[in-house]
Amino acid sequence: MRAAALAGAAGLVLAVAGACAPPNETTSSPSTPTTVTSSSTYRSPEDIYLLNNALYSAGQVQAVACKLPDIALQTQRGLQQYSVAYLDCLQRAWKPLVDRTDSLLTPPGLHTVNQGARTGCGVVSDDDEAFYCGENTGIYLDWDVHVEEEPGDRMEAGTYLQYVIAHEFGHHLQHMVGISTQFDLRLEEGTEAAQLEQTRRHELQASCFAAAFLGANQRTLDLHGIKLEVYQWAAYTGDDDPPAGTRDHGSRKSNTAWTNAGFKAKSPAACNTWVVSSGRVS
Ligand SMILES: [Zn+2]
Repeated sequence: MRAAALAGAAGLVLAVAGACAPPNETTSSPSTPTTVTSSSTYRSPEDIYLLNNALYSAGQVQAVACKLPDIALQTQRGLQQYSVAYLDCLQRAWKPLVDRTDSLLTPPGLHTVNQGARTGCGVVSDDDEAFYCGENTGIYLDWDVHVEEEPGDRMEAGTYLQYVIAHEFGHHLQHMVGISTQFDLRLEEGTEAAQLEQTRRHELQASCFAAAFLGANQRTLDLHGIKLEVYQWAAYTGDDDPPAGTRDHGSRKSNTAWTNAGFKAKSPAACNTWVVSSGRVS
């Protein structure tokens, strides 16, 4: 099995929230008794974009005809070509859902890079197998981490890559529909432990979105047998697996539960990590 740790694969680079300052007014909590005034219809941006985002009720992810090039995943050019083709499948599968919200889904960029490369979100470090940069809506892949380890290993490398890119595309969705802006605001307050919990909600949701896409496209991507095992290995990996790292991506138990739910439902309806108890995002 590939030695790459998913915690690194899904390394999160936070978008700097420059466009939107946090509101100064306090918003009424759900437990506040409502009075019949015009303000009773007020819904906070957090309510609209995070807790009840329209994406959650936009239906199932589309099954799309996804034709991937049958090429060796051994060079930067090969990785780029494969990833761009796969990205087009993700875009076509998710766009009808985002079109049902008030947001737009423009395709993200796909950049195969090396450690030390400058990106829209800083320099690629050795921890960054892949990440999403909201500043320029780009997915960055440290490509030589994702090559076939030996000839004949292509299926495994390709399936692992499919999960990683689908996860990063999940962050793109969060960015485009307004979830990430609200997440960034939550990160501005609270203890380190509280911020880590918010980060786990964000990461587990991106993984659930990835699983929803792969569940919807299980047939077209032929995700059975060894491929299904590779997918599950990647999807279930938690930040508590040895060597345990920062608790920012969720435990094996949490990753397994959220990706299984997304895969089965084939829908972002199963991926609202923002309204569940802390125990479900451990
Ligand atoms: Zn991530």
